[in-house]
Amino acid sequence: MISVQDVVPLLPGPIRSTALTLAGYWIYHSRFNDHFFRTLSEFEASADASIEMLHEIQRVRLDKWIVRARHHVPHYKDLPPPSNKRNHFEAIQETLSTIRPLEKDLYASNVGSFIANDVPRRKLRRSHTSGTTGTALPLWHTQEALAEEYAAIWRMYRSYGVQLRDPKMSFGGNMITPFRQLKPPFWRTNYYEGQTLFSTYHLKPRNLHAYVAAIHTTPSRYAQGYPSSLNLVAQALLDAGRPLPRGRLAAVFPSSERLLASHRENIEAAFCAPVANRYGSSEFAVSMTSCRLNNLHVDMEFCIVEVEVEEETDEYVRGPILVTGLAPSATPFFRYRIGDVGTRSKRPCPCGRAGDVFLDVDGRTDDYIMTPDGRLIGRLDHIFKDMHDVAEAQICQDRKEAVEIRIAPRISFNRSSEDHLMREIRRRLGTEIEVGLVVMQEIPRERNGKFRAVKSSLMGQLR
Ligand SMILES: [Zn+2]
Repeated sequence: MISVQDVVPLLPGPIRSTALTLAGYWIYHSRFNDHFFRTLSEFEASADASIEMLHEIQRVRLDKWIVRARHHVPHYKDLPPPSNKRNHFEAIQETLSTIRPLEKDLYASNVGSFIANDVPRRKLRRSHTSGTTGTALPLWHTQEALAEEYAAIWRMYRSYGVQLRDPKMSFGGNMITPFRQLKPPFWRTNYYEGQTLFSTYHLKPRNLHAYVAAIHTTPSRYAQGYPSSLNLVAQALLDAGRPLPRGRLAAVFPSSERLLASHRENIEAAFCAPVANRYGSSEFAVSMTSCRLNNLHVDMEFCIVEVEVEEETDEYVRGPILVTGLAPSATPFFRYRIGDVGTRSKRPCPCGRAGDVFLDVDGRTDDYIMTPDGRLIGRLDHIFKDMHDVAEAQICQDRKEAVEIRIAPRISFNRSSEDHLMREIRRRLGTEIEVGLVVMQEIPRERNGKFRAVKSSLMGQLR
């Protein structure tokens, strides 16, 4: 399928903003529908709820999903009915204890049996997992699940004083100017949403002064994007001695990558605004949003998060997390082993919000690649999302002049798949870096058994 991202860099400059504005209109109305506004007001109403009330909300939603799954999801047709215990928390525990944790392999081997058959086909939305497992899994969700995820996000945004139609600047993975473009502007405007989209592929030393000037002049109330990109921009603002004036931005919202502590410091100092982190997933089965004390609160109305405890102290428990999504989606994720490790506090957060609170979630296996000119490129595993000729892939880097692409090809892999792969790599990393391609039967796992999509020995020096 052709996306806006593919088309926009090909258009003549002035038309790019028009295309982004039209796309902005479409995206805005598909995200912010009636279900979004209804859910946002419900979530805001329960923001101050007691833990007992939150457990009651979770129980009602979980029971509804279980009943639906028994009737409409082939994989779960033999699931026992929900617990009838009086105490909501105990009932949730008992109900979950009857469900085996869901492994990605099991889901992948029989995806079709996980799709609820009461969702009309035209209402199924297809996407895929973000590549921490190496190969992307197909996912199906509903518009309602997407709307609820956005309600959880916007409850956090609004708690930082940001409103839906406020102007913003974005530093995401969109290709908005051609890779070969040498002169500014490296940004375009989606006028519908008042969004300035900055290309993160042109964040090179020679262009940074132009970014700094544009960031100062663009009307924005908040910034969002990949933390690795926000960090580069922040570093440029600081190096130029031109941090944004305090109060200009209400907050900065990093997304899609793990926020490194050093990046948070830079971003806060350069944008002179609080950085509000979030943890979510493309399965729409988990959401945690940060409070002003930088703790990650589980959005209890949206999901249940369990920790398989591997380490315990007086302060916290730590281990792999199992997530259960509560939104009415097309696929249930009950006790899904998502592949990340969380540290859950044993004490309530001093900010006063009730519910489960995490000090940290990591184990995200994404890493960055550094280009010879020092740019950090994240989310490279996205290259392989739609490459069905490749069973597994890994990008490795030991020095900044070169990368090694390791692939375990499928039988259908041929010359044209290889050309396509190299084009995608060059599109993101540029032409200066050496690229080696190594074909393997299987990509070796880490000592802990985990797969890493991007592996860099340079990153250790930066953390
Ligand atoms: Zn808190």
